[in-house]
Amino acid sequence: MTSITVNAPSGKYDVLIDEGCLLSVGAVLKKQSPGRRVAVVTDDNVAPIYLDKVENSFRLAGFDTYTYILKHGEASKCGANFLDILEFLASSRLDRSDAVAALGGGVVGDIAGFAAATYLRGIKYMQIPTTLLSMTDSSVGGKTAIDLKAGKNLAGAFWQPVSVVADTKCLETLPEAEIKNGLGEILKYAVIAGGEILELLEDGFSRHAARIIALSVDIKRGIVEADEKEAGPRRILNLGHTPAHAAEKLSGYTFPHGVQVAAGVNTMLRASHAKYGLGAADAERIERLTRRLGLPTRFDYSPEELAAAAANDKKAEGSSVNAVIVRAIGKVESVKIPVSELKELFI
Ligand code: ADP
Ligand code: ZN
Repeated sequence: MTSITVNAPSGKYDVLIDEGCLLSVGAVLKKQSPGRRVAVVTDDNVAPIYLDKVENSFRLAGFDTYTYILKHGEASKCGANFLDILEFLASSRLDRSDAVAALGGGVVGDIAGFAAATYLRGIKYMQIPTTLLSMTDSSVGGKTAIDLKAGKNLAGAFWQPVSVVADTKCLETLPEAEIKNGLGEILKYAVIAGGEILELLEDGFSRHAARIIALSVDIKRGIVEADEKEAGPRRILNLGHTPAHAAEKLSGYTFPHGVQVAAGVNTMLRASHAKYGLGAADAERIERLTRRLGLPTRFDYSPEELAAAAANDKKAEGSSVNAVIVRAIGKVESVKIPVSELKELFI
């Protein structure tokens, strides 16, 4: 078992990564929550496979469980469901000593986390991520959110979980497309950090899955500890995301996030080679790895289309946008790029 302690300024918590640790969620929460009740929020794909195990574990540890099942998919991360979850917590009579447990992928984690952040002005919550993307990315760092009509993740809060329990056995039932989605973000960590995670990924994800997940969490830990609320350093986690968000938007959010991030990382590597002195060998090494992982190295949109969409992004600051460039593998940097230069970058 691997345990990584995240020491965020607003809360310290452990991320447990192990095969089969789903059975110990009750014992883990017992150490964190003095309350008698736990509300489990999950979705209709995850519930039939894992809900029984999780509820039993909570009951064995002495909790009464209350379960809320969302329809799977991003469309569920909406204001109406958010309010409905709050009403559910109230009608289940959870009080300040009680906790929410998010069992599922990023959608469940984001909306359940935001409900926990706001119910009674904030109660404890536990993340039980079941997708590769949520294990390595969204369950760590304390960002919670819902989508608005105007865009994704436009309402939310920074709210740290009391613990994260990632059972790598859950990946056995995860569809291949969702594995790829997670690999896109992992590829990003490999470029940000270089070293062991990159070498293991080159040797084969499935051979080293648990170690690669742990290294991803540890890289994110280091970055969010230094900058919990994204005032500066945390921005490097957006490597590849400026063009990826643009492509997602252009597709009407039908393109999966992590897969677009892989194309975005490669786009920023090409841009960094052309403009910021990145060696060709580094860019080619990541391109080869991306192909081996079955991920795209380019977008389906032209540089002009991507640039126009990025210029309208919520994170655009006036006439420039933040983008992360790569000086060398293991050395990335957030820079401001004038909107007028974006199309030369998104090559
Ligand atoms: P993500 O974690 O990628 O942000 P979601 O929360 O939308 O995204 O999860 C992706 C999809 O995978 C959803 O349809 C969800 O119901 C399903 N899912 C999540 N975990 C598992 C699992 N362990 N086995 C099978 N399907 C799962
Ligand atoms: Zn991302």
